[in-house]
Amino acid sequence: MAIEKTLSIIKPNAVKQKHVGEIISMLEQNNLRISQMRMLQLDNVQAKMFYQEHIGKSFFDELLNFMLSGEIVVLKLEGENAIARYRELMGATNPCDAKEGSIREKFGDKTDLTQNAVHGSDSKESAKRELALFFK
Ligand code: UDP
Repeated sequence: MAIEKTLSIIKPNAVKQKHVGEIISMLEQNNLRISQMRMLQLDNVQAKMFYQEHIGKSFFDELLNFMLSGEIVVLKLEGENAIARYRELMGATNPCDAKEGSIREKFGDKTDLTQNAVHGSDSKESAKRELALFFK
């Protein structure tokens, strides 16, 4: 199976609630190797560029405000089949639907699907584009 690279973001709610360490442990335990990592505060332009596919959707403003509401941690992950394996570990978009033991089930806000704790690239093309926004 091919070695893939993917982008993970630990979103502002999980950083504020001090879950960074636990989430990183879950990545390590699942053999998703962290090859680069940094903490940063997104600005408006970066956030819009990152979520450009969602511009115009009903939840876009809420999503943007949330992503600008505090620091995030961006991670470059590597491993066999890393894109799909990390999506599986994250769980469904809505924390209420995320399978037991997944990151979003454990750390997402079950009353607000925007605040679902983590992001993960959904394809090779998105991974390439998203990684380029944060890592040279
Ligand atoms: N989102 C939201 N409301 C929705 C759908 C999505 O607030 O109805 C937010 C949520 O934070 C999600 C992000 O927008 O993680 C991107 O949505 P996408 O459909 O790409 O889901 P993901 O790939 O993150 O599971």
